[in-house]
Amino acid sequence: MQVVRAEEMYEWDRKAIEAYGREGHILMENAGRTIAEQVLRDFSGEEKFLVLIGGGNNGGDGFVLARILRDKGKSVTAIQVVPDEKIKGDAQYHKEIYEQSGYVLDSLSEEDWDRNTVVIDAMLGIGVDGPLRPPFDELVEKVNASYLAKVSVDIPSGLPADEGAEDFQAVQADITYIVQAPKQSLYLDDTRGFYGEWRILDIGLPPAASPETGCRVWSEEAVRESYPAIPASAHKGTRGKGLVIGGGHMMPGALIMAAKASIRAGAGLTTAATVPAIVPSIAPSLPELMFTGVTETDGVITDIDAGILGGKDGVAVGVGMGRDPRSQSVVETLLTGTEGRLLIDADGLYHLKDLLSSLKEREGETVLTPHIGEMARLCDKEIAEVKRNPFSLSKSFAREYGVSLVLKGPATIITTPGGEQVVETSGNEGLSKGGSGDVLTGILLTTMMQHSSMKEALSNGCFLHGRTAELVIERTRTVYDIVPTDLIDHLSLTFRT
Ligand code: ADP
Ligand code: ADP
Ligand code: MG
Repeated sequence: MQVVRAEEMYEWDRKAIEAYGREGHILMENAGRTIAEQVLRDFSGEEKFLVLIGGGNNGGDGFVLARILRDKGKSVTAIQVVPDEKIKGDAQYHKEIYEQSGYVLDSLSEEDWDRNTVVIDAMLGIGVDGPLRPPFDELVEKVNASYLAKVSVDIPSGLPADEGAEDFQAVQADITYIVQAPKQSLYLDDTRGFYGEWRILDIGLPPAASPETGCRVWSEEAVRESYPAIPASAHKGTRGKGLVIGGGHMMPGALIMAAKASIRAGAGLTTAATVPAIVPSIAPSLPELMFTGVTETDGVITDIDAGILGGKDGVAVGVGMGRDPRSQSVVETLLTGTEGRLLIDADGLYHLKDLLSSLKEREGETVLTPHIGEMARLCDKEIAEVKRNPFSLSKSFAREYGVSLVLKGPATIITTPGGEQVVETSGNEGLSKGGSGDVLTGILLTTMMQHSSMKEALSNGCFLHGRTAELVIERTRTVYDIVPTDLIDHLSLTFRT
């Protein structure tokens, strides 16, 4: 499934009509009918529907929906929000069909907010432009203040479809029936909440007419198709020899979690490069892990011997490393010395900030796994701006520096050096604890050694991490007490499904 921008959605519609022989009013009929059927399934009792209809295509879907609900004998109050508005095209066509069916358009009265139980918001869709004009501004407020269940058609009215919007006023939906494909705003921190629960409904736009948006949603099916099996002939050398670098003496835990996660995720051989003082505390509980020394001063890693990079299929740096400026040389050594795949996370990203230009010269593949704050620092933007534009900022950054980027959050956006994107949405708020990212780093170290496609490695690794959190919580039935190490201990829940 592809994530679409408004412009791409229009293009899909246009192509269906111009190149695939579809009629616009039939597409609208399909959309309205598909949503009506879902509404009837989700609200199967004695609901009374208040349908608010705008003058664009979204309103057109609303006319179809109101007609079908009436055909089914439901109580419907249908309001054309701007009654005398001259509407055009397919929406006008369906307004006429509605009226020819013997149904009337009502005028909105105060009682409508008390008499009805569900408000269906078909006012504004992806064509919304600028601040809401009257009467939409007041109506959106009224809808939000009402006690009715709130259902939005395609997108909550007022909410922009694309990333980038700063100020908007929108319906706070309880359920949104998204037409055909998810829009970017479903994945942004500041806008996703407006959708409420949501479903994506296939209204039958021809798949062949869909634009290539370069951004897809990762699914369980994609994981099943691309996750490599372990052949019976496997040996430790074929499953990846990984190196994790980090864990100064004040933060050994991050290193332990990353190393352990890498081992549990299935790496053949995992080595940790860290300060010797912490080795005795780690080794007994993690006997599968090997160690190699680093150059250190006062428990701060100041360099590594590039020799330890030889024969490694993957290297991950940064977890628990600390921000002492003396550690920057470690990242510098890795950028030039790592021939294979190199993942930089956490404090490694902090040190990378001054070394960005050398990324461009690197021959091997590099992966950066920032959360939104780390990303903001890397690209010199405010956090709010990264939150508003994660798709475009990731794309330009990945292209400029030739890296794969994993921008972490409730919706994680993975970007290839070529600018291709994947949205991975597994996981839950139980992951908002220090250490979740370190576990992810360990998992990704393993998946990037075991997949040839980096995009699949990162998408599958994020899935393994997030889905495990979901499955743990299915068992414990609370998000409160899950800790990152629970994920490591329960990866099998995901592997076996
Ligand atoms: P479209 O018909 O373009 O697919 P919509 O169903 O979202 O998309 O309807 C867009 C219509 O809504 C536009 O034609 C315009 O008249 C109206 N509209 C767009 N932006 C606003 C706004 N900010 N306030 C009020 N009406 C708007
Ligand atoms: P740390 O460095 O403390 O280990 P990070 O911020 O680097 O944590 O990583 C946090 C991880 O947890 C990321 O994979 C992120 O996607 C995930 N995560 C955090 N909060 C949420 C949330 N509310 N919903 C889903 N995933 C989350
Ligand atoms: Mg982190």
